[in-house]
Amino acid sequence: MYEDEIEKTLISQEEIAEKTRELAEQIGADYEGKEVLLVGVLKGAVMFMSDIARALPVPVHLEFMAVSSYGSSTSSSGVVRILKDLDKDITGRHVLVVEDIIDSGLTLSWLLKNLGARNPASVEVVTLLRKPDAIKVPVDVKYVGFDIPNEFVVGYGLDYAERYRDMPYVGTLKPEVYS
Ligand code: 5GP
Ligand code: MG
Ligand code: MG
Repeated sequence: MYEDEIEKTLISQEEIAEKTRELAEQIGADYEGKEVLLVGVLKGAVMFMSDIARALPVPVHLEFMAVSSYGSSTSSSGVVRILKDLDKDITGRHVLVVEDIIDSGLTLSWLLKNLGARNPASVEVVTLLRKPDAIKVPVDVKYVGFDIPNEFVVGYGLDYAERYRDMPYVGTLKPEVYS
């Protein structure tokens, strides 16, 4: 469908599925006997949230937050605004934030402070992707799917101008798509 616009596949559908199973196994072992509250960050994390939730061997509840980070469409500023807050109180809950990608880490760093102030029993993070070379603030991320190069990627929830979220794999765009 989007083949003509994609420069290269970075992570295939099969690789995502395999990694999701591995992460779910690890997380399941760490949270054995506990109930986990997954907090998905809209909209990018929707695909990963849906797949990891079904792969986890422990019972989970699903919550979503939408935040907007001021900045251009391809880079964030760290100034964050809540567009949609959690529906429920997280006091005493084991929160696992589900992220699509950690780029500068600015959004997540803000989010972890915000959630931490609500007295959860614990807060950890699982992210499908991370760009180690783009990090600006250190964030403690317990579960990472793939470390990727510092390139703008789309697919599997990640958009460019709201497109490509429905692409089942992660790839980079041809330069002409941006112009
Ligand atoms: P950060 O605050 O870590 O710089 O980035 C936060 C958000 O920016 C991510 O959750 C994601 O929505 C967006 N973002 C960062 N890098 C990329 C990328 O390579 N592709 C896309 N589509 N979005 C990105
Ligand atoms: Mg995100
Ligand atoms: Mg986006």
